[in-house]
Amino acid sequence: MHELRKDILLGRWVEVLSESKEPSEYGLPSDIGTSEKNCALCAGRETETPPEITSIRRQGTLPNTSGWWVRAIPSFDPLFKVEGNLDRRGVGLYDRMNSIGANEILIESPEHAVRPEDMGIEQMVRVIRLYRDRIADLNRDFRLRYILISKNSLFDSLRTFSHPVSSLVATPVIPKKIKDELENAKQYYDYKERCVFCDILREELKVGDRIILETRNFLCFCPYASSFPFEAWIIPKRHNCDFQEIYQEEIEDMGFVFMSMLKKLRAVFKGEVPLSYFLHTAPNRVPRRNHWHTLGDGYHWHLEIIPRLIMRSGFELGSGLFILTTSPEKAAKFLREVG
Ligand SMILES: [Zn+2]
Ligand SMILES: [Zn+2]
Ligand SMILES: [Zn+2]
Repeated sequence: MHELRKDILLGRWVEVLSESKEPSEYGLPSDIGTSEKNCALCAGRETETPPEITSIRRQGTLPNTSGWWVRAIPSFDPLFKVEGNLDRRGVGLYDRMNSIGANEILIESPEHAVRPEDMGIEQMVRVIRLYRDRIADLNRDFRLRYILISKNSLFDSLRTFSHPVSSLVATPVIPKKIKDELENAKQYYDYKERCVFCDILREELKVGDRIILETRNFLCFCPYASSFPFEAWIIPKRHNCDFQEIYQEEIEDMGFVFMSMLKKLRAVFKGEVPLSYFLHTAPNRVPRRNHWHTLGDGYHWHLEIIPRLIMRSGFELGSGLFILTTSPEKAAKFLREVG
């Protein structure tokens, strides 16, 4: 019999099919070409991008010249702009506002064709440091309510960069999915006076069959009611709501866990898996009415990794009830056991 499972964080149900698909039953896109010749993000072409916001670079090299390992630049074509005011108002029945915010490209490597799983731990650690530095910096702007770092690898719906990049978008509102997660975490905290994520961590460590990888500081696992087959989360064992407060030791460990996970995905699917990942951290704490005062105790940052293996059916789009064609236990077993 198929099984319905409730997602404790989003409050929605998913259906786990009783017969799990094997990795080989999902088709991967065949050859995805990367074109280097027109790429302004490669090393040596720094003058062709907007001036950099920050970079981690070799000592003695100047901003906007080569010598960098990772680099943050404003988006060429921003979804949100820093200048102006929100001008929030009603239009008849509806609400609108200006798209004030920030939109940056985080360039993960000076090399054009390197995959995240092949860039080496040292470089992955620099990427995570850049994530931390940009969130810490933008957190000081109280007009911004939420800062989301995300990545599409081999899959890009908005703009195609074949160069390895992550995207940073800071919005003047808390986006819906994050709001749902925050609200459910708050409800759980109000009721139990414990962080729901810490409880999930304990439960997953106890049950064990959804664990992919465990290190000193992190757990990587397939969530009980995943939204996508082979979805995986990386969550720090130390409770903290703010990603930007990550310790150096944790950054190094996270680099290892993240890279191992991506390598495992490639091994299980015997090829490059298109994927998205995103970092969920606490929103900017703007003092306001109905402010969640215990947010620091009840929310817990984490990274969600979504392999893009499936198209949603009409039923899923119409209902929001997602079908899991491979159970989280089976997916975790494949990923755990692969070398
Ligand atoms: Zn490039
Ligand atoms: Zn926690
Ligand atoms: Zn999340």
